Amino acid sequence: MENRICAFCGDDIPYNRNKNSRYCCDECYYENKKNRAIEMNKLNNHERILLYNERIVESIYEQYSDKKYILYISGIEFISRKFNWNIYTSELIIEGIKAKKLLHYAYTLFTNQTVRVWKL
Ligand SMILES: [Zn+2]
Repeated sequence: MENRICAFCGDDIPYNRNKNSRYCCDECYYENKKNRAIEMNKLNNHERILLYNERIVESIYEQYSDKKYILYISGIEFISRKFNWNIYTSELIIEGIKAKKLLHYAYTLFTNQTVRVWKL
């Protein structure tokens, strides 16, 4: 019979342990469970901030979309709403510009502190 390896610490799983167990001992089982809860919590924080960012961009977009200067919005508009520049889903290229995608919007912060927003 092949040795089974603990999914948490990498030690062999004792033969006398339940054959479906992925862990060598209860400590490893609970440590792994705890780590996964921390990971889930981080993911939830990320998603929460992502939604928060999305709402900020949406409201700014709505506010400016009637106007012709939608292309370049002052970064202060975002900063004053506590926009988190580090949270987005992915990066993409729109009209030759590298943009950060949220959910239904994408944006680019230019070095001159103006922001361009796209509705996707
Ligand atoms: Zn273990």
